[in-house]
Amino acid sequence: MEINQKAPAKINLSLDSLFRHSDGEHEWEMVMTSVDLSDYVRIRPAAHIHVTTDSGFLPEDPRNLAYQAARALQTAAGIHAGAHIHIEKHIPVAAGLGGGSSDAAAVLRGLNELWGLGYSKQQLAEIGLTVDSDVPYCVYSETALVRGRGEVVEPLGDLPNFWVILAKPRVSVSTPTILRAVDDSNKGAAPDTQRVLAGIAHRNFEEMTAGMSNVLEAVTAARYPEITALKQRFVKYGAQVAQMSGSGPTVFALCEKKSRAMHVYNSMKGFCKEVYLVHTR
Ligand code: ATP
Repeated sequence: MEINQKAPAKINLSLDSLFRHSDGEHEWEMVMTSVDLSDYVRIRPAAHIHVTTDSGFLPEDPRNLAYQAARALQTAAGIHAGAHIHIEKHIPVAAGLGGGSSDAAAVLRGLNELWGLGYSKQQLAEIGLTVDSDVPYCVYSETALVRGRGEVVEPLGDLPNFWVILAKPRVSVSTPTILRAVDDSNKGAAPDTQRVLAGIAHRNFEEMTAGMSNVLEAVTAARYPEITALKQRFVKYGAQVAQMSGSGPTVFALCEKKSRAMHVYNSMKGFCKEVYLVHTR
C-alpha cells in the first residue's frame, strides 16, 4: 500500500500580528491560500519512521518537519506503527511559502489514512500545531482566515479568479529571527483584514487587494533590499499587486488576466532566477 499526498505552497494574502502573548508568541490574523506549486509526499508502511527527500540538502532525521509530524501523530494516537516517508521537493526552502509545514501536514493526512486513525481535520490541525504554527492551516490547504497561534482555521470558500507570480530572491530567511525582531516600531502597515474578507465573500478582486498587507514585510525588507526591488519590478511590469509572503523572502504578484500574468512572469525571468506562474488551488 502506498499513499500519495500533495503538499501545496501557501501564500499570505494578508498577515497581521495583533499582539504578543506573554510567552512571546504572536497572536496572528492572516488570510492564507494555497497555490499549485507542490511537494509530493509518498508514504509506505514500515517498522519505524524514516524520512527521505530528493533535495540533497534537507535533513532526513528528526530535524525534518515531516518526521516531527509523524512522531506527533504516533504519540497522539499512542501507537508504534512506522512508515517510510519520501518527499519530492519542489517548493523553495526557507522562502515564506510554508513548504516544510505543508510536508508535515501531508504526513498527518497520509498517516491518518495509512494507520486508519479516523482523525478529523481539526484534530490533525491540533496535533500539527505542536510541529509548527503553519501546519494547522496546511492540514486544510484551502483559502482560510487563520487566527490564534495558527490553530484557528476558518475556511472561506472560493477566491475571485486571479493568477499568481512568485519570485524568490537568492536569500534564505530564518522565520524565527524575523518573528523575534518584530515590534510596534518596525512593523509595516497593517492589512484591513475585514476588507480582504469582504472582497473574498463578494469575489471582488479590487476590494480584496485593497485590504491586503503583510506587517512582516517592512522587517524583512529592511534586512534584504532585494524584496523592495522585486516589488518595484513587479509593479513596473504590470502586476496589479505585489507583496511579500510570510516572513519572506518570496514576493508574489497577482494579476486577473492570464495574458498580463504571462507578461509579468516572462519579464521577471530576466531579473530573478526563481520565478513561478501558478494559480490558486
Ligand atoms: P514558514 O513560512 O512556515 O516559516 P518557510 O517556507 O519560510 O516556512 P520552510 O521551507 O518550511 O520555510 O523551511 C524552514 C526550515 O525548516 C529550513 O531551515 C529547513 O531546513 C527546515 N525543514 C525541516 N523539514 C523541512 C521540509 N520537509 N521541507 C522544508 N524545510 C524543512
